[in-house]
Amino acid sequence: MSVTSIYERLADMNKAYLWHPFTQMKEYNNSDPLIIERGEGVMLYDIQGRAYYDGFSSVWLNVHGHNVPELNLAITDQLGRVAHSTLLGMANVPAIELAEKLVQITPEGLTKVFYSDSGATGVEIALKMAFQYWYNRGRRGKKTFITMNQAYHGDTIGAVSVGAIPLYHATFSPMLFSSHVIPYPYAYRQDGGAKSASEATLAALRNLLEEQADQIAALIVEPIVQGASGIVVMPQGCLREIAALCRRHEVLLIADEVATGFGRTGAMFACDLEGVSPDLMVVGKGLTGGYLPVAATLATDEVYDAFYADYGEQKTFFHGHSFTGNPLGCAVALASLKLMEERRMVQGVSTQASLVAKKLETLADWKHVGEVRQQGLMIGIELVQDKASRKAYDWTDRMGVRTSLRARELGMLTRPLGNVVVFIPPLASTEAELAAMTDILAKAIWDVTEGGWGA
Ligand code: PMP
Repeated sequence: MSVTSIYERLADMNKAYLWHPFTQMKEYNNSDPLIIERGEGVMLYDIQGRAYYDGFSSVWLNVHGHNVPELNLAITDQLGRVAHSTLLGMANVPAIELAEKLVQITPEGLTKVFYSDSGATGVEIALKMAFQYWYNRGRRGKKTFITMNQAYHGDTIGAVSVGAIPLYHATFSPMLFSSHVIPYPYAYRQDGGAKSASEATLAALRNLLEEQADQIAALIVEPIVQGASGIVVMPQGCLREIAALCRRHEVLLIADEVATGFGRTGAMFACDLEGVSPDLMVVGKGLTGGYLPVAATLATDEVYDAFYADYGEQKTFFHGHSFTGNPLGCAVALASLKLMEERRMVQGVSTQASLVAKKLETLADWKHVGEVRQQGLMIGIELVQDKASRKAYDWTDRMGVRTSLRARELGMLTRPLGNVVVFIPPLASTEAELAAMTDILAKAIWDVTEGGWGA
């Protein structure tokens, strides 16, 4: 069979049988699908042999690139022992070793690891743990949550209940529990810049806590970088203040590090950038280098101890998933963390980030670039219709989508967030690869916005 006919057959089957996430299938089915066949380093290859840079780390999770011998070996090695077991009433070697490792590398105070298999399930666990923590301690009025405007924590019902992106979440509102929403500091779109954006967030939080802390179990936050809302970077010091306010008012802090964890922001975890130690922390995505679906919720002794009791006291955390602590996933996570350490990858992010920043410097002066936001290797470029007034493009203009499609033609994959073009390369990208990717990114933006400098 020729490559073309293999492609056509798979494209037909894709159309006939697959329902893709976050995708309007009517639109998708009218396009030529991209069908990936293999990956090597930071490149992905489609079934027709075309090469693309993985400019969004396959949805922000790839760390070391694709087809990495050390990671492949960790999986095959474990495969020869046992592929699946459960943590219900037993343990397995990689799950134990990974738990120890996670406790060592996460912020101070996090001492216990509860596994799951996606960011969303990790968030569900954190929410349920926070709720039951107060319940077990007899403070049963503390049962609501605080989240932040435009937050995204995953797509299961609890995670959507603390989500605040109307496009994704509004439809489901009758199914959800309600949460308090405070503003996330989004300096570009708030009057008065970073300082006043930060102050507005803190004032809203302070007011809420002063009035209702006795009814609030926890605050959940995407620390330092709010991802799905458009890679929005918090002003310095804001996270530390949020943590201090929560502590003062006896409200647990849940750090959702699903996107920011494992080096992306320039520190191992975004909380480390401000020396913040949350009560609960959720990790996923990059935990296995992106290879296999493992997530984890970490808790402090204080949280754990509230569940530690004689069986008859009914303080058990009744929650678990069939794949919890999957040994293949835990083995590859251990191998990934080992590689990160050996190659000093987190330490290397600041050099990589400076190179990217330098390459993207001129974009800030382009006519339709409103703001270039960057924290480590998380980059978002907000496109605007009018630079002076910061007027956004209408969503029907689909500028982000068009830029991504143009980047794909030029040989790089990425996925936009509304009018924000996202660039989140694998941590393993070399300087030459980063330079090539940023060139494609810039050219795609220039072409789609029809170029031009100034306001
Ligand atoms: N939290 C954050 C901050 C995320 O960015 C995401 C995914 N983009 C999730 C949770 C959900 O993770 P998953 O897709 O693995 O369920």
